[in-house]
Order: sequence, then C-alpha cells, then structure tokens
Amino acid sequence: MFCKTCGGLLILKKTPYGKWMACPQGHAQPELNQEQVTSVEKNLKQGRKMEVSDGINILAVHDHTCKKCGHDKAELLEIMPSYSDEDCIFRMKCGNCGVVEQLEGKVK
Ligand SMILES: [Zn+2]
Ligand SMILES: [Zn+2]
Repeated sequence: MFCKTCGGLLILKKTPYGKWMACPQGHAQPELNQEQVTSVEKNLKQGRKMEVSDGINILAVHDHTCKKCGHDKAELLEIMPSYSDEDCIFRMKCGNCGVVEQLEGKVK
C-alpha cells in the first residue's frame, strides 16, 4: 500500500488504538486508518483475529443458505461433545449477518 499524498511505501505503525499502515513522512491516510481501526475493534469484540476483513467473514466458505438474510455462505462451527460417545454438533454461522443455525441431520 502507498501513501495517498506522496506515493511512498507505507510502514506498519503501532499505537494504543491499534496497528495500521502509515506514511513515514507523516501524511494522513484518513480512509485507510478508519477502516483498520474498525477492524481491530471488531476483532476485540469477537475475540478472533483473522475473521474480519472488510466486514466479510473470510471463514464463511461453506454452502449454507441463511434463514434470516438469505446469504449463501457460512462458517462451519464444530462443537466437540463433552462425552466421547456423543456426536459432534455442527453449526453454521452466516457470513453476512452472523446468525448461527444448528445443522439438521444429526439424528440417526
Ligand atoms: Zn506520504
Ligand atoms: Zn444471514
């Protein structure tokens, strides 16, 4: 990524508010900074680091149509059973609205 003002290569800047790419010459990158800070805040809320990218869940790669918003990609969540003779529980988390649905078909 390059500075919008001088075209120089941006460096990673660390601040108490998060990390983002900044120009070594100190030129402001308003749009860029705003986006990065938003991502960091989302990450903190969700306790995950690689999930958020431009508001799209990059782990949502499984075909599953959301009942709520109709989005057709979801993240597969596997929940291990507390006893070894129980089945794993699978849930689909919508990549768009984040709603979690328990998968049917667990019944034998
Ligand atoms: Zn610059
Ligand atoms: Zn949805």
